[in-house]
Amino acid sequence: MILYSFAKINLSLHLLGKRPDGYHEIETLMQTVDLADKITMTECKEGTTVTCSDPIVPSDERNLAYKAIDLIRSNYRITKPGIQVHIDKQIPVASGLAGGSGNAAMTLHGLNKIWSLGLSREQLMALAAKLGSDVPYCLFGGTARASGRGEKVKWLDVENPFYFVLINPPIAVSSAWAYQHVKIDLTNPVSCVSLIVSLLHDGDFDGLISHLHNDLESPVQSAFSAVREARGILADAGIMGVLMSGSGPTVFGILPDRSEAERTADLVRSRISPQWRVFSVSSISQRAISLRCSLD
Ligand code: ATP
Repeated sequence: MILYSFAKINLSLHLLGKRPDGYHEIETLMQTVDLADKITMTECKEGTTVTCSDPIVPSDERNLAYKAIDLIRSNYRITKPGIQVHIDKQIPVASGLAGGSGNAAMTLHGLNKIWSLGLSREQLMALAAKLGSDVPYCLFGGTARASGRGEKVKWLDVENPFYFVLINPPIAVSSAWAYQHVKIDLTNPVSCVSLIVSLLHDGDFDGLISHLHNDLESPVQSAFSAVREARGILADAGIMGVLMSGSGPTVFGILPDRSEAERTADLVRSRISPQWRVFSVSSISQRAISLRCSLD
């Protein structure tokens, strides 16, 4: 079985306060983009094997796809048969694009089919929440707002496509570090996600770019000059709406037109070192993801 696990970006990410369990209460608006890891799942005689084309990703029980297999095995008492998963990594690792969470989500879908478990959407969501805050959203992707620690997801029907140039500097930023360094007393306790949702529904591109927001951006930018540089490169290339995704370090610029995004990505590539990865991507809907992965 072949599945694709897509990257996400955060068009808006607000930290609303610290919770007693140590997590932050957040409100975010997420959008899937068409940059994907290819996941090949094969049944075998016994055991669990996970491999990844990127050697920095662990292949043992620390791998989120491995954790998804273990979770299904323990919840449904499946000891046999064996499963092999190979991840062909296209999404930069630890980049704020939820690559690992997407791998875990698609592994849940794959096992549901391969082992004929008949798990409902709600059952998959409950399992996904045990694997990580972004995993429930990554199960279905598209455009969605999420709250709680990110696991309470409301999907939105947004028709207008948007295009993005992503710059991924060759550094890793730990999500835990980024969350710990936000000065929570200085963040706005009222999120503008509802406003962004209505701007998206109206197809108001200018309104959208003036309300892009990420509370994690300030501490990450202060500590990592590469993130400031990536922002500057996109702004110098003429993009008005620029924001860091998630806990970074990936920075995106948003554009209303595909050819403009491709042209800008080419321009940016010609200006930076080849270790910095640059992608021209478009938003992708939940329906398109489900067709691509035959999830229906
Ligand atoms: P998020 O946006 O959800 O915070 P991210 O894009 O910043 O995620 P990931 O690519 O998911 O980060 O990787 C975070 C960490 O998880 C890395 O340190 C990596 O070693 C580990 N990891 C475990 N499994 C995977 C996987 N299947 N793919 C990528 N990273 C994985």
